[in-house]
Amino acid sequence: MPEEKVKHVLGLSGGKDSSALAIYMSQNHPELDIEYFFTDTGEELEEVYSYLAMLEGFMGKQIKNLDPNRDFKFWLTQYKNFLPSAQTRWCTRMLKLKPFEAWVKKEFLDKGYTVYSYVAIRADEEYREGYTSKNDKLIIKLPFRDDGVDKPTVMEILENSGLGLPAYYEWRSRSGCTFCFFQRKIEWVGLMERHPEAFESAKALEKDALEHGSPFTWSEGESLDELSKPERIAEIKADHQKRLDRAMAKKIIDPLRPDSGLIDIDDLYGQQKMCLACHK
Ligand code: SF4
Repeated sequence: MPEEKVKHVLGLSGGKDSSALAIYMSQNHPELDIEYFFTDTGEELEEVYSYLAMLEGFMGKQIKNLDPNRDFKFWLTQYKNFLPSAQTRWCTRMLKLKPFEAWVKKEFLDKGYTVYSYVAIRADEEYREGYTSKNDKLIIKLPFRDDGVDKPTVMEILENSGLGLPAYYEWRSRSGCTFCFFQRKIEWVGLMERHPEAFESAKALEKDALEHGSPFTWSEGESLDELSKPERIAEIKADHQKRLDRAMAKKIIDPLRPDSGLIDIDDLYGQQKMCLACHK
């Protein structure tokens, strides 16, 4: 019987979980020749690129950049200038999933390989949605869930590797596009203060989309123009501070894992729906 042809792939988003999974797999399964890839929307934060470069250095392995041949602005025109939203997430489909599917099909499945794709769903979260394969030769593996790796352990993996968290984590909990509609209002304020040119560009896209009849704004219930008014920013910051104070008052330090109590934006605002392709 001919030997089965097998490939292993792991998608990186520039987020903490997929980065920790890459480190975990390289340390715990060095026997697997894993191909690491990043699907670039062309609208990512510069911190994502520098973090991926550090990760490449740590693993001593190149991360393949899967470039969708059409960019966000092209697809926005195709979708009649309707901004993507949690209800109509054409961006993930066109900029993340399709380039991945095309690459795996052309490079591996069409050549008779069985492909194992490793996804960073942690043991402490539900696998509600995400990439489910329609091809029985493309098999999704969830090592963190299988091995009981939770969020504090992910933090430990990153800390012990010396990489720590991506720099944007100071003000934003997600990787992905600068203008991702999944970000919270405080993260929009963070984008405005740290990457004003990206904020202005998101504002211009939104203005154009609204003029073309888009039913969605980037952030629910208000335009970026409204959100960036000084009195609105003060309100958003005051609400954030209140949440932070409440969380700090409730925080319990585990003496065995003193760093495990990091309070991040997800803890303050509740775990929001997220995109497994963009935010892991
Ligand atoms: S990061 Fe957000 S805006 Fe970008 S492709 Fe993913 S879901 Fe869409």
